[in-house]
Amino acid sequence: MITVETLFSGSSGNCTLVRTEKTAVLVDAGKNCKAVMSSLEMLGMTLSDLSAVFVTHEHRDHISALDVMMRRKAMPVHVTALSAPELCRGRSVGETAVVHPGLLYEAQVGDLAVRSFPLPHDSAGHVGYVFADAHGDTAGIATDMGYATMDAYNHLRRCRTVVLEANHDIDMLRMGPYPFPLKQRILSQGGHLSNADCAGLCCGLARSDTKRIILAHLSHENNTPEIAYQTVRAALDREGHTNFALSVAMRDQPGCAAIPCGQEERHPLWGFREEIIV
Ligand SMILES: [Zn+2]
Ligand SMILES: [Zn+2]
Repeated sequence: MITVETLFSGSSGNCTLVRTEKTAVLVDAGKNCKAVMSSLEMLGMTLSDLSAVFVTHEHRDHISALDVMMRRKAMPVHVTALSAPELCRGRSVGETAVVHPGLLYEAQVGDLAVRSFPLPHDSAGHVGYVFADAHGDTAGIATDMGYATMDAYNHLRRCRTVVLEANHDIDMLRMGPYPFPLKQRILSQGGHLSNADCAGLCCGLARSDTKRIILAHLSHENNTPEIAYQTVRAALDREGHTNFALSVAMRDQPGCAAIPCGQEERHPLWGFREEIIV
């Protein structure tokens, strides 16, 4: 079985742990090495337990911890050729980078089969990932996307667990303090996925094989865990997916947030923890 846990998630830094009983990898490593190590420690793990890192793209909130991390524990860092130049500016991460020429690539790490797929975002290169274990369990990760593509849907729809971006509430962004060009960038096709667009994609995934969705990469200024949760929950409920497991990744620590909207009994605080126990 594949377990997926966000170590931290949001505009300030992103890092997700994907593991089976035999293999553990990270998707992205933002913030700094200390934050990654202390988050791993909260889950009873260290850098030595990791076999590889898979980078989605070269924006700082996804790679800023990597150079120091590789000095402490060198391991393969998988990255696309488009994102590699920025990533490999750090000498130690450059030494362990595994550069893939295209946006679609496959890798095998222990018992985890990994497949990338392209996402629309204003970075040099950007991918999401699908993981599969030897028993056919699957998990997907897709954040930092200007809009929900059919291609992304087709890659994610067979995943049992999906980590999906719910970056902003459109009204909060429009009325908020960001300068106009930044608002335009976030709303553009190379920007970030709104709660409303995320809700549409979640409904599609709920109609497919997906059993659990974790909302991630929330904007600190233009979203709240409650608004993101309620927007997606309402869309799922309207379609009759009333028992679908939905949770929101916490910004600064591993796991998912408590949502004070009367849904806690149906959707427990630690969605991922529940998954580990089952
Ligand atoms: Zn980005
Ligand atoms: Zn980002």
